Amino acid sequence: MWGLLLALATFAPAVDLGLGTPGASGLGLAPPATTKAPVSTLAPSSNPAQQPSGKNNGTSEQHVRIRFVKKKKVIIKKRKKLTRPRPLVTTGPPVITTPAGALHFPEEKEPGCPPLGLESLRVSDSQLEASSSQSFGLGPHRGRLNIQSGLEDGDLYDGAWCAEPQDAEPWLQVDARRPTRFSGIITQGRNSVWRYDWVTSYKVQFSNDSRTWWGSRNRSSGMDAVFPANSDPETPVLNLLPEPQVARFIRLLPQTWLQGGDSCLRAEILACPVSDPNDLFPKAPALGSSDPLDFRHHNYKAMRKLMKQVNEQCPNVTRIYSIGKSHQGLKLYVMEMSDHPGQHELGEPEVRYVAGMHGNEALGRELLLLLMQYLCREFLRGDPRVTRLLTETRIHLLPSMNPDGYETAFRRGSELVGWAEGRWNQQGIDLNHNFADLNTPLWEAEDDGLVPDTVPNHHLPLPTYYTLPNATVAPETRAVIEWMERIPFVLSANLHGGELVVSYPFDMTRTPWAARELTPTPDDAVFRWLSTVYAGTNRAMQDPDRRPCHSQDFSLHGNIINGADWHTVPGSMNDFSYLHTNCFEVTVELSCDKFPHENELPQEWENNKDALLTYLEQVRVGIAGVVRDKDTELGIADAVISVDGINHDVTTAWDGDYWRLLTPGDYMVTASAEGYHSVTRSCRVTFEEGPVPCNFHLTKTPKQRLRELLASGAKVPPDLRRRLERLRGQKN
Ligand SMILES: [Zn+2]
Repeated sequence: MWGLLLALATFAPAVDLGLGTPGASGLGLAPPATTKAPVSTLAPSSNPAQQPSGKNNGTSEQHVRIRFVKKKKVIIKKRKKLTRPRPLVTTGPPVITTPAGALHFPEEKEPGCPPLGLESLRVSDSQLEASSSQSFGLGPHRGRLNIQSGLEDGDLYDGAWCAEPQDAEPWLQVDARRPTRFSGIITQGRNSVWRYDWVTSYKVQFSNDSRTWWGSRNRSSGMDAVFPANSDPETPVLNLLPEPQVARFIRLLPQTWLQGGDSCLRAEILACPVSDPNDLFPKAPALGSSDPLDFRHHNYKAMRKLMKQVNEQCPNVTRIYSIGKSHQGLKLYVMEMSDHPGQHELGEPEVRYVAGMHGNEALGRELLLLLMQYLCREFLRGDPRVTRLLTETRIHLLPSMNPDGYETAFRRGSELVGWAEGRWNQQGIDLNHNFADLNTPLWEAEDDGLVPDTVPNHHLPLPTYYTLPNATVAPETRAVIEWMERIPFVLSANLHGGELVVSYPFDMTRTPWAARELTPTPDDAVFRWLSTVYAGTNRAMQDPDRRPCHSQDFSLHGNIINGADWHTVPGSMNDFSYLHTNCFEVTVELSCDKFPHENELPQEWENNKDALLTYLEQVRVGIAGVVRDKDTELGIADAVISVDGINHDVTTAWDGDYWRLLTPGDYMVTASAEGYHSVTRSCRVTFEEGPVPCNFHLTKTPKQRLRELLASGAKVPPDLRRRLERLRGQKN
């Protein structure tokens, strides 16, 4: 049982699943020792300096310490050399060895060969072939780096390619469809909760016609090279070829595998395009964007620099601020974009995007950095859509909620980081399980019939246990909660990766311990609308030819899903936003690959650009207005806006302004505030662009007028005093 539990805890993070371990008191603690450092083994001829930094830290530190005593200057150089991120492959003179002799193409200059796209699905299922496979679910199309199986084995969605046990000479083949300069291979074992299978060594062969093959040879011995492969199921292992090879086909031929297991692997191929002067082959599809933006991965320093540049370019519509610090002391920077940055304007809704709460899910971070560049640029160019967005809304972009986790993932690199490393914050806390669980107190009160008369259906307070100094609450979580309480956000999305789907609250199942169960909020119609808007404008989700990422096909349901119906997440940010503040928030899973290679970023930007803009514009769906005191015309803060038939209220901001997201229809809306008579009026939300104005003027109750008279020290006439006594007797 322990073995099973451990296996579940270790390998269960299918997709973006949070590992809510039962023993972690619901505060999102990571299971111990889940991540192993990826090891990169190198082909015999490779220069050790080409090793991606990371696993060697232990040895390099030791090395540094020893040298430290002798000579300080040398050490600094050494350390720099070992920690500087560098491309996987250095460019050398073109090496073209094709014994089959047919094709010679000059290589296109690339700083290091990118992945061919087994993980990103750019390589289609039909490009993958194998000598044999145990079942369809273990077919060659499953031999993709980081592919995740479902919880059960033996279905259509297993976690690797596995050859038949009786297959004496197994191979997995990739057809690049055009001459390609192959430079390296990354392998993993099988992703499974129930089994251990991985390949411990393999050979590599190449072909131009899939009939004549030649092997990758050791430079010194001239023998076929045998590459050392994996020693666990999850850690990606990189092998660089002793000599890059130009060919159309590449084969991996497992030589040995874990005893008692099968020949199973997941792979990525590193390959540079070569130019094709005779146009013999169809061009590789272009992965471009016409927007001149900075399409790179940005670590903390580069991100800070980029944000500063955007701020300098667009000083009138941007402001950078920090909402706090990570456990390691990195600042949580926010880019605010609006026509009057730094202030809440009456009637102008506040919206936010949050990315990177799981540090290894890197695409959201880059999309927000691209979005801020794009908004600035298009504002300067006078684009009407962007101008309206910046004039009518106040946008807050937090690209990195978990910068510590990101730095860990970034150092490993987009291909070698694996599936889980960098997900948690420095303390091992999963931030998306770390918010206060307000669902349980609300649902208990509902079961006792106390909502909304005794217990409110909105703005539930933080539970006492959560506010204690020794509560397991990450500094990143605390910072975001204080941010949520400080700014009257109306709409938000938090950006994740590892799947292609939009999930909406509730994220936690109502039945305790249910692993999954449809658990809609009272605002289900709005949440389904919001999710559909993003999913319907995201190009990747709308591609009818795309295959499912891992083990579920969300396209059958419009690429949206109720979070709890997918997998329960207690303490999620979405649920907390909805129950503690006015803000409606959904989770966007942006791509199958959590950390796409840099060369995928232009395409991913194009996939998401319209969706990111259109989603923010949904803050106009519903009603909005100001609740004012009828005598003074002053706005009333914290007035409650209730809609008949929806058991979830929102409140006004400091100046009395409010926004209530609603789908089209007729609504009876009530505004109430302490010391005022409530007012109910009907408001119609149409399909026209809103929000529909729905203002309220409230009159003070006599009781309140008396209270204020007394508080101001005025003399109270005897008859009023008698009334007051009577009121006191009624105890309010
Ligand atoms: Zn995530």
